[in-house]
Amino acid sequence: MLAKRLEKLHPYVPGEQPKDREYIKLNANENPYPPHPDVGEAIKSAVDSKLMKIGLYPDPDANELRKSIADMLNSTGGVFCNATIEGKKCTPSENDRIPFTVTPDMIFCGNGSDEVLSFVFYTFFGSERPLVLPEFTYSFYPVYCGYYDIPMDTIPLKSDWSLDKEKILSEANKNDSSIIFANPNAPTGISLTRAEVAEMIKTAPKDRIFVVDEAYCDFGGESCIPLLKDFDNLVIVRTFSKSLSFAGMRLGYVVSSPDLIKSIFTVKNSFNHFPLDFITQTAGAASADNAWYYAENARKIAAERDSFTDFLRQRGWFVIDSKTNFVFTKKDGLSGDAIYQSVKKAGILIRHFQLRELKILSESA
Ligand SMILES: *Cc1c(COP(=O)(O)O)cnc(C)c1O
Repeated sequence: MLAKRLEKLHPYVPGEQPKDREYIKLNANENPYPPHPDVGEAIKSAVDSKLMKIGLYPDPDANELRKSIADMLNSTGGVFCNATIEGKKCTPSENDRIPFTVTPDMIFCGNGSDEVLSFVFYTFFGSERPLVLPEFTYSFYPVYCGYYDIPMDTIPLKSDWSLDKEKILSEANKNDSSIIFANPNAPTGISLTRAEVAEMIKTAPKDRIFVVDEAYCDFGGESCIPLLKDFDNLVIVRTFSKSLSFAGMRLGYVVSSPDLIKSIFTVKNSFNHFPLDFITQTAGAASADNAWYYAENARKIAAERDSFTDFLRQRGWFVIDSKTNFVFTKKDGLSGDAIYQSVKKAGILIRHFQLRELKILSESA
């Protein structure tokens, strides 16, 4: 009764959400701070003064929202925690300044970056050649490879947990492949510099797409948005879920050249013309318009992350320097599962990995 393609599906397993007691949930990297009050106001007005709008189709192209996102990127440089905040105004740090103006036609929005990634996979990757990706990165990429029947060429991390740039590039050039990874990467928290990514794109196949997922960039990575000036095969995926306290509403976006954005629109308009409902569009714009507030929060989160890293190291834990809102850590003699269980008993949910999942664990440090 089922279509044959179901055999290739390996659904994503989200961080657990047990109901037996109230846990502090750190296992999905959500933002601990609430959205800005304007977001609540936008939602309230949708059910009060603008109720009828719920009966009408939303703007299929989310134009107001895309304008707000472009403004947010121009004013923060795409790295909240480094932006200067004066009142309600943000200015990018010198290093993050984008050397051109991001315009709305460079933005594509969808229901969370998971949906955006699905459109990106469908638009740019086919079954003809493998997609090159690190063995450990965001675990949704292999799920979509199964969904769209895209062969995978997975490259192990190096023994210091960083991406094996040389191997990624040599494999991509061998098969004329596209490349995808998260930067900063998950679950390691390690970030490549913009210059390192630029070097990679220079060496990668020119006629293939190079995707960088910047879900955690606002917490201290270097955004690759400035590189769009130099590379027309670069696609950057970002999300409102982590730095904009919006995981429950679902909003993600792509930043790329207007030409590539048009191709993604072609796919979206062949599947669901109206992926973003009117409430998400207005609440999303209210979020982006208050980037200063989220920038303050990102800064607090980054400071907390760094002091927690010191705390662990003083107690003999191995911790990788993180540029994200999470830390990746281990301690000799303790299994991930044992740590997870005892932290859970204390009412906190975290993620853990077993040696067989991360073989490289045993080689490092
Ligand atoms: C959380 C996360 C996403 C998914 O974000 P949504 O917008 O909530 O779908 C994408 N990529 C990475 C690397 C993430 O960690």
